[in-house]
Amino acid sequence: MRLSRYFLPVSKEAPADAAIVSHKLMLRTGMVRQNGAGIYTWLPLGLRVLKKIEQIVRDEMNRAGAVELLMPTLQQADLWRESGRYDDYGKEMLRIQDRHDRDMLYGPTNEELITDVFRSYVKSYKQLPLNLYHQQWKFRDEVRPRFGVMRGREFLMKDAYSFDLTEDDARVSYRKMFCAYLNAFSRMGLTAVPMRADTGPIGGDLSHEFIILADTGESAVFCDKALLDMDPPGLGLDFDADLTAEVEKRTQYYAATDEMHDEAAFAAIPEDRQVSARGIEVGHIFNFGTKYSKPMNAVVQGPDGQMVPVQMGSYGIGVSRLVGGIIEASHDDNGIVWPEGVAPFHVGLINMRVGDEGCDEACGDLYDQLEAAGIETLYDETDDRAGAKFARMDLIGLPWQLVIGPKGLEKGIVEVKNRKTGEKVELPFADVVAKVTPA
Ligand code: ATP
Ligand code: MG
Repeated sequence: MRLSRYFLPVSKEAPADAAIVSHKLMLRTGMVRQNGAGIYTWLPLGLRVLKKIEQIVRDEMNRAGAVELLMPTLQQADLWRESGRYDDYGKEMLRIQDRHDRDMLYGPTNEELITDVFRSYVKSYKQLPLNLYHQQWKFRDEVRPRFGVMRGREFLMKDAYSFDLTEDDARVSYRKMFCAYLNAFSRMGLTAVPMRADTGPIGGDLSHEFIILADTGESAVFCDKALLDMDPPGLGLDFDADLTAEVEKRTQYYAATDEMHDEAAFAAIPEDRQVSARGIEVGHIFNFGTKYSKPMNAVVQGPDGQMVPVQMGSYGIGVSRLVGGIIEASHDDNGIVWPEGVAPFHVGLINMRVGDEGCDEACGDLYDQLEAAGIETLYDETDDRAGAKFARMDLIGLPWQLVIGPKGLEKGIVEVKNRKTGEKVELPFADVVAKVTPA
């Protein structure tokens, strides 16, 4: 992408009401534009990151055997009356009437809708297990939308729903999601810690929130440092294998948000491993048995011919929240430092002397080579001052910066800077593409 033809409205200052660093940086880099409380336009740079996250989530859901579909944002209230949640949900639900005075709502979540899809088609245990997911905008009329996209009112969520015949099978499905989440967050450059979460009135122990540590997180969290040092299960994981050990390897260690915190259990961890910090909830997985299938009559025929309500679980990821969360976890004084997996472009190419025939040609050549190699490149061929170009490139935080100027050109070299480490090396033109190609 040539910067002069792109739309990248960066600014020096962030509005005073942006309270946390990710929100400030998202506004300054022109990633989002606020249109109302908790409602945002995703500008081109922000949208690229959002799509990267969405694709990682999709890959890892698919790898774990989940199947993508797309449900609508607008739902009929009648479905929610069946589950009893239409009245229970309260003011967070945006309620709308259509021209025929039918009650509609903008979905805050999709348990009812997916249960309706399921019961319309699946009648036999032979069609199980099944896990259906989508990535769709949600609306929750939060009391206090804040921190930019981290607590929006309209936000993008990945929500998956599992269907199984028995409770044991439902646990198998749960473990798949547990592992897939760790892999997905790791690909985004994040260490997400699964923490025991409240299951509310349904009870049981099958709910985990996935939390990333950040000073600006909304929840106080407590965990064993061992969890922060652990590698994810890995993309080679066999999802058809028994994943119990993989899950227990992590759940054996203490980890809880303040609602579930147990002082005594925490105190029992060796002192040098006690982590007391703040965290951002980026995902939440939940097994709720027959909570929806019973009232909504989503039943399947079991092997003995009996009709039984299907066992369900739901699995959310805050896709748009993650954009802010990743920035909270990865920035410095000069701006964002994108992890490679989610960077809006992989490389920023800076032409130091636009209009100089040699520089223009060398940059143009390199740009073509990078594009041909499938490396997403933002080419700064504007006539801004060099200092402004460097500052802007640092601010938007692409993993690699390539600088071409008249002096280097004489020697046949390009300056290659790694945004994260700050390391700069001078390389001959022929070696540049290989250097920045992801491993
Ligand atoms: P929170 O406790 O942060 O309000 P929640 O528990 O109500 O979230 P879930 O229903 O578990 O949220 O939704 C799944 C995921 O969607 C959450 O883990 C979070 O990452 C994301 N999410 C929830 N509410 C918002 C919001 N207002 N803005 C952005 N993302 C959100
Ligand atoms: Mg939650």
